[in-house]
Amino acid sequence: MISIEEALQHIQQQAVKPNREMVSLDHASGYILAEEIRAPFDLPSFDNSAMDGYAVCGDHSVFTIIGEVAAGSTEAHSLRDGEAMRIFTGGKVPQNTTAVIMQEKTDVAGDQLRIEGRVESGRNIRRKGNELSEGQLVFEAGHRINPPSAGLIASLGFDKIAVYKKPTVTIIATGDELIDPGQERKEGQIYDSNSKVLSMVLHDFGYEAAAIHKIKDELAATRSGIEAALRSCDVLLISGGISVGDYDFTKQALEDNGVEQVFYKVFQKPGKPLYFGKKGDQYVFALPGNPASSLTCFYVYVLPMLQRLCGGKGQGLKRIDLPLSHDYVVSYDRPVFLKTKVNENEAEILDGQGSSMIHSMAQGNALAYVKGPADLKAGDKVQCLLME
Ligand code: AMP
Ligand code: MG
Repeated sequence: MISIEEALQHIQQQAVKPNREMVSLDHASGYILAEEIRAPFDLPSFDNSAMDGYAVCGDHSVFTIIGEVAAGSTEAHSLRDGEAMRIFTGGKVPQNTTAVIMQEKTDVAGDQLRIEGRVESGRNIRRKGNELSEGQLVFEAGHRINPPSAGLIASLGFDKIAVYKKPTVTIIATGDELIDPGQERKEGQIYDSNSKVLSMVLHDFGYEAAAIHKIKDELAATRSGIEAALRSCDVLLISGGISVGDYDFTKQALEDNGVEQVFYKVFQKPGKPLYFGKKGDQYVFALPGNPASSLTCFYVYVLPMLQRLCGGKGQGLKRIDLPLSHDYVVSYDRPVFLKTKVNENEAEILDGQGSSMIHSMAQGNALAYVKGPADLKAGDKVQCLLME
């Protein structure tokens, strides 16, 4: 059995080779850039108006209006001393514009424009290149695409970008007791919840389950199910069958498929029987079947591996230290991940900490990491892994 820190080190030490692909900007959310991006031109690319108002030439209080520039107009206009043009936000300012006077500070009678106050040179003009200059580094390789990044890349005219490919993930749920939600249930059977949880949490972090398979607790079926899954996935997530029961065939079936164990069993609760293995460039996590164990192991171990596989650093969930809102005793003699609700700036450890219990996880939004045994008092700081 290894410690949580050792298990995480194993994940960080895998020599991953992320593959590249071009993706359309419309589908680039959450991808990591595989190449730097430089500005192909100045941004803004032309001097333009920051206001609806009048472009004026010279320092006067009355101007003669000679025309209009709308946003998007590509015509070249020019002003002479004492002239003005009606202009709208984003419109290209005419040549020789001294300033744009905001509409609210003007008074128009026929073609005569009277302005309040003095003309301040350069006022309300967004200058060419004042955000980025041509050739400037915009993003380094390794930058994660979020909505403002996509906006900036779009403003620079790119419709496709080079990113690291996201891994193809397959889920296998093992267990003779499992039936699908919607089916009629007989005493002794349970509804498969882990498949739903895993496919949704993958989706929430920007990955997709390419396939979900159900397998009976038989060695031959487990072996052939794993063999079939490994034909096409980069990461295989197996739920259940990894403990020490007589019907736990996952570990044997992985070995039979040539999967090499990296670690098995972590000194933690929940999720002690976690298994991590690899076959060439493919990675396998066998997650304990108990729902809270399976999801906790996803957050703590699977997520960092997925992030690394697509060019990220594998930092996993964000962690913050917060004071407890109440006393709490951890009687287990090992590190625990406790289902927790973070409210404002406090952490409340919830009732229902069993490995099979997911209702408390559904009410909460964090996992508190505590090294048990511990006699915690209100106000003591605990490290919280934020699930949302
Ligand atoms: P196992 O890891 O296969 O020994 O399963 C441990 C516990 O988790 C058992 O109570 C199983 O019934 C339960 N379990 C296993 N797989 C699932 C699943 N897909 N959905 C919900 N519970 C599960
Ligand atoms: Mg089982």
